[in-house]
Amino acid sequence: MEKIKRTKIIDVLKREDYGTTVNVKGWVRTKRGSKAVNFIALNDGSTIKNVQIVADVTKFDEEMLKQITTGACLSVNGELVQSIGSGQAVEIQAKEIEVLGLCGNDYPMQKKGQSFEFMRQHAHMRLRTNTFGAIMRIRHNMAMAIHTFFHERGFFYFHTPIITASDCEGAGEMFQVTTMNLYDLKKDENGSIIYDDDFFGKMTSLTVSGQLEGELGATALGQIYTFGPTFRAENSNTPRHLAEFWMIEPEIAFMDQTELMDLEEEFIKYCVRWALEHCQDDLEFLNKMIDKGLIDRLKSVVDTEFVRLTYTEGIKILEEAIASGKKKFEFPISWGGDLASEHERYLVEEHFKKPVIMTDYPREIKAFYMKTNEDGKTMQGTDVLFPQIGEIIGGSVREEDYDKLMHEIEVRNIPMKDMWWYLDTRKFGSCPHAGFGLGFERLILFVTGMQNIRDVIPFPRTPKTAEF
Ligand code: ATP
Ligand code: MN
Repeated sequence: MEKIKRTKIIDVLKREDYGTTVNVKGWVRTKRGSKAVNFIALNDGSTIKNVQIVADVTKFDEEMLKQITTGACLSVNGELVQSIGSGQAVEIQAKEIEVLGLCGNDYPMQKKGQSFEFMRQHAHMRLRTNTFGAIMRIRHNMAMAIHTFFHERGFFYFHTPIITASDCEGAGEMFQVTTMNLYDLKKDENGSIIYDDDFFGKMTSLTVSGQLEGELGATALGQIYTFGPTFRAENSNTPRHLAEFWMIEPEIAFMDQTELMDLEEEFIKYCVRWALEHCQDDLEFLNKMIDKGLIDRLKSVVDTEFVRLTYTEGIKILEEAIASGKKKFEFPISWGGDLASEHERYLVEEHFKKPVIMTDYPREIKAFYMKTNEDGKTMQGTDVLFPQIGEIIGGSVREEDYDKLMHEIEVRNIPMKDMWWYLDTRKFGSCPHAGFGLGFERLILFVTGMQNIRDVIPFPRTPKTAEF
């Protein structure tokens, strides 16, 4: 076969120099045709769109043509021609075809319309489907949006550790990291494990959040963001929780609660607008095949002002909805309790029909590092609640007062012996600061219209699943 430099399909489809010979490589999506001519839809992952290869049957070896099955990998040299019937402006009139990789009929993605559950069991191959191609390209674009947003605003990308010795945030839901022989653990007289000989000489785990180290960055560099993997061994089999997920955590010195809400809103709108501008083809596909209201929903988020509501006001609305018989919930609510996702979604999807930034939560349900309000009862949290998702961002102003922070730590019995370095931020030149955490996959769920968080990350990690 003549050697011609490969052109990606996304670029071939834009060309108008009909008559030129090009080379494309990719995987067969479908083959159809007659005795005289074969039409092969080829995709190389560069775009959701396929290029149509037209093969005159008389010009090719019959055995070779039989090898062109769904999923097979081809290299095609052919002439760029104007297309009339393929749905694209151009197609390729094949001159030479080489089958690079055969694909038998046990190829798991052969049939169209497989369930997402089935595809999850074949997550190594589902990336080859239109839907997962679209999701992964959108995922990439969202990562670029996030870096661009912060870079344009003078934030520094700050790398926080993945292995951590602090367990004050995620006690009980952390994955331990050890090089010890689990069959031969040394224990003291109380039966507690002795970590002296372990790799780090103390108990270590995978991080549940980069925030605490992020605060060290912000109180030195002014404004930073993290973007990295986080791990939670929470045994919750929900469509919105993963054991390994990616989190974006900006942290900003001298920022107050209103400015924090402004940043949260601006940030999400920027990301959604980016998707509308950079992922048009993929969004149109998802809008057609997965979720008919997707593009309208994305546009409406970009155009509407988010509702800003205190927790106390939110509880009142929920109580009224129950009292008037307008709504029944599975879980009870009362002031002081955590909102379940059904409550959050009622407020966002039914009551306001808009994203909601909820603020000023009871201190009992929020983390120790949040700034307490003057009332002594509520804390300056600022969570963003989204349609379809529930909580997408968890944010707060941080307590900068050393004594107040210590008090919070003591009443909560938080093990802080390995946290002296965190407290030092409040000891040496303490400053007001604030930040938030956005779950990357929750953003991707919203932007793609997918229902299950396992379907917006290439290789999901959930209880009892770590295949691939
Ligand atoms: P939730 O109540 O939904 O479990 P959380 O209060 O535990 O969330 P935070 O600790 O505030 O969440 O984490 C910040 C953000 O990280 C959340 O707003 C959410 O977008 C995301 N997030 C939290 N836990 C998970 C998870 N297990 N899988 C995926 N994303 C998550
Ligand atoms: Mn949680």
